[in-house]
Amino acid sequence: MKRVALVTGASRGIGKAIALRLAADGHGVAVNYTANAEAADRVVDEIRAGGGTAIAVRADVGDSAAVADMFETVEDTLGRVEVLVNNAGITRDGLLLRMGPDDWNSVIETNLTSVYLCTRAAMRSMVRARWGRVISVSSISGISGNPGQANYAASKAGIIGFSKSIAREVGSRGITVNVVAPGFIETDMTEGLGDETARLVAEQAALARLGRPEEVAAAVGYLASDDAAYVTGQTLVVDGGLAL
Ligand code: NAP
Repeated sequence: MKRVALVTGASRGIGKAIALRLAADGHGVAVNYTANAEAADRVVDEIRAGGGTAIAVRADVGDSAAVADMFETVEDTLGRVEVLVNNAGITRDGLLLRMGPDDWNSVIETNLTSVYLCTRAAMRSMVRARWGRVISVSSISGISGNPGQANYAASKAGIIGFSKSIAREVGSRGITVNVVAPGFIETDMTEGLGDETARLVAEQAALARLGRPEEVAAAVGYLASDDAAYVTGQTLVVDGGLAL
């Protein structure tokens, strides 16, 4: 086993693809989820069937006590987290005048407070080891904004500012902190938007199609690798040229 990686929200979609990718690259992987235990177990089974090492670990990443328990479980079973991928995220879309405090708070907690909690929990051992990789999944919504997604875009822009700050704090300790910003990727999150939206988005992308979870996972795999040792504080956009 090369390194110990923790991927939040890895039971489905982009997080699942990241977990499989990091496992294929030789890392032991903790597969975090919050509700879908069966889906998380299937990801673990797939990794183990391929000869890899994995565990599933339940935690609501917006909850500080749950995050502390999750890190304890991972450290006790796999070892200290060396590669942290903050991927878990939700949407609660709506125009501002209809966006209530619950819609605002739940998205900020799950998408942004989680990044603060998990990165902080991982940082002590990374600093001690003088090596670490933190990679967080933002979105082009956090760069360009998107009507109906003020809460989501704020959380995703927050991830970018947070990551640049931490990159500057811990760079001298051999820890890199980067962001991947996907465009429109085919997952459960985007399925509900409908075929017409998907067609219009595909038309706008320079590559004239939607993205696949594996294509985001490849960018994360690169940032976690030794090839990216001199890359920090960056946001790598993986959107097929959608936001150009
Ligand atoms: P998805 O298919 O809806 O999967 C979401 C994952 O996050 C699931 O594994 C879910 O676990 C987990 N999760 C949700 N709330 C959680 C919580 N409070 N604690 C722990 N885990 C939680 O989403 P996706 O499309 O793969 O998106 C993954 C990330 O990419 C998100 O941050 C999203 O904002 C970002 N992104 C996606 C797109 C896109 O087009 N799909 C574009 C840009 C950015 P359960 O299975 O247990 O519910």
